[in-house]
Amino acid sequence: MRTAICPGSFDPVTNGHMDILRRTAGLFDKVIVAVMDNYYKTAHAFTAAERVALLARCTDDLPNVEVRTANGLLADLAEKVGADAVVKGLRAVSDFETEFQQALTNKQINPQLETVFLAADAEWMFLSSSVVKQVAQYGGDIARFVPACIHDEVRQRLTA
Ligand code: ADP
Repeated sequence: MRTAICPGSFDPVTNGHMDILRRTAGLFDKVIVAVMDNYYKTAHAFTAAERVALLARCTDDLPNVEVRTANGLLADLAEKVGADAVVKGLRAVSDFETEFQQALTNKQINPQLETVFLAADAEWMFLSSSVVKQVAQYGGDIARFVPACIHDEVRQRLTA
């Protein structure tokens, strides 16, 4: 059985994230979406538990996807859950340097762990959680950017 981990902050989950998660679910037997609680030191708009709940709703139709919070080193989590690969979406050249550095670091810590990069869908190349937060905070329409099932809740929180 092949297991993948898709890590991130998902603050909140966007259509760009969903594209990567769906494609990963098609490629692997099991996908663990790891909502990293220590990923950034900056404040999040949603708590880790809220981010997990939003993701769980969005991945309800994907039976091989499990969502959980995670702390600490990704390489350690991978070993604990028996993951074969970390799957990440690459949006642009700007993503590359950090992602490459992380992939090589994880490989040093856990040599069995491969990192697989999926090219972002052209439609979502520009999209990030930060874009969603900025547009919402200034009263813009985020309906195109986040899954419909979480739109109202996300908009309400970000405009409160
Ligand atoms: P981070 O906290 O590292 O910025 P995010 O929570 O924003 O992570 O995203 C998690 C992962 O999802 C990223 O590493 C990236 O691989 C992928 N991702 C984010 N946005 C997009 C997008 N618009 N298209 C494709 N992949 C994306």
